[in-house]
Amino acid sequence: MNHKLSIYNSLSRQKEQFIPLNSPFVGLYVCGPTVYSEPHLGHVRMAITFDVLFRYLMYLGYKVRYVRNITDVGHLEDEISGEGEDRIEKKARLEQVEPMEIVQKYKLEFQHVLEQLNTLPPSLEPQASGHIIEQQQMIKNILANGFAYEVNGSVYFDIEAYNKKYNYGRLSGRKIEDMLANTRELNGQSDKKNPLDFALWKKATPDHIMQWPSEWSEGFPGWHLECSAMGTKYLGETFDIHGGGIDLLFPHHECEIAQSVAANGHEHVKYWMHNNMITIDGQKMARSLNNFITLRELFSGTHKKLTRAYSPMNIRFFILQSHYRSTLDFSNEALQASEKGLKRLFRAIESIKLIKPKGKGSSFNLEKYKNRFYAALNDDLNTAIAIAVLFELGDLINLLVLDDNKVSITESKLNDLKTFMQITTENILGLKAEKKSLSDTKLLKLIIDLRMEAKMKNDYSTSDYIRKRLSEIGITLNDTKEGTKWERS
Ligand code: ZN
Repeated sequence: MNHKLSIYNSLSRQKEQFIPLNSPFVGLYVCGPTVYSEPHLGHVRMAITFDVLFRYLMYLGYKVRYVRNITDVGHLEDEISGEGEDRIEKKARLEQVEPMEIVQKYKLEFQHVLEQLNTLPPSLEPQASGHIIEQQQMIKNILANGFAYEVNGSVYFDIEAYNKKYNYGRLSGRKIEDMLANTRELNGQSDKKNPLDFALWKKATPDHIMQWPSEWSEGFPGWHLECSAMGTKYLGETFDIHGGGIDLLFPHHECEIAQSVAANGHEHVKYWMHNNMITIDGQKMARSLNNFITLRELFSGTHKKLTRAYSPMNIRFFILQSHYRSTLDFSNEALQASEKGLKRLFRAIESIKLIKPKGKGSSFNLEKYKNRFYAALNDDLNTAIAIAVLFELGDLINLLVLDDNKVSITESKLNDLKTFMQITTENILGLKAEKKSLSDTKLLKLIIDLRMEAKMKNDYSTSDYIRKRLSEIGITLNDTKEGTKWERS
């Protein structure tokens, strides 16, 4: 594969040339959502970032297996200590339904939203609860290698034993001593040898609904384990890229590395990629901070922070207009600016058909733009710069449409231009023109306005005619002091 793609590896903290382990195949694993609530803006930045990576790798000619898991068990309320109620069980208890009903509801919601945002479905979307046996096998391997211990039916990862041979904290750059200093004292109730140890298997209390038999106890797997187990199952003991939101870097990904290395005796991921977060009023947007906006609210405009509704493509474009490793601050102004930009881009693409080949003026140099576009994507997937190049090209298209003889273009170059704009916007960036959905309400308002105009001109025969025709299709009009009201009869 002839390309110069480099990606920032969170593990080495530098950009590295992308060389797959087994070209033309690429294994990509991304941590998906815990499906216990409506998808919000923070979730979809992950999905859109890695969708563009998936699309671009395929564009470069790779055969990509993209695995994005669904967490449906084991994600407890306190991520750091690994304590508290299971998030899905808690929601099920509050709504008085089965935990798997919660999983089904929000999994479908998440997939639906991502389809609206035009992200391609991953090759596989495995669920943690469907891989209990694989997780148990991994625990057995870790125990056999001496990096875990069992206490009272639970199995914990032994950080101290692991750290004697390997290095815990490499990904996050944290030192064990510092982590210990920042950890609350154990309250004596815990079975852990060391406060930093984390659960691989937890014995379930009798009221814990989601539990499975094992040789240790009736229980459930620890949250971090599913990604080690499912990554290995579907992509092998070593694979190319592991992605996720930066909030997962510690402890989730740190623990994942420790588990995989402890079980298999070697590194499991070549490139670690993390997308940054979305902020609102300068603060991270998160469910735990209760400052998040769901996609449903964005699409309908129903949230106190929103001045109006924003379309799925608008959201996608807004996210892609900043580099995935930068924080992205949400605001109505920013969304409206990106909406304008997107319209401008699609208008330019639409107007390519108006350009006629012509011989006068300096010759059109598409290669220059192509090179800059791909150089931006090759530089750690810099969609912000790539889109800026498309904007420049849009300005040039407008010049060509004006036909002012400043720029010349041949027929074959014109075809090249069409193809390039299509590949870049649709195939790689996943942007598509949205059809305006004309609601019945908008049409009715238009008809009522026309009738009012007729009335103002004393054209009562027209206004009565409109009222009569609407009544024939079941719409009754009432003229009130506040204007004309309508109702369905
Ligand atoms: Zn994960």
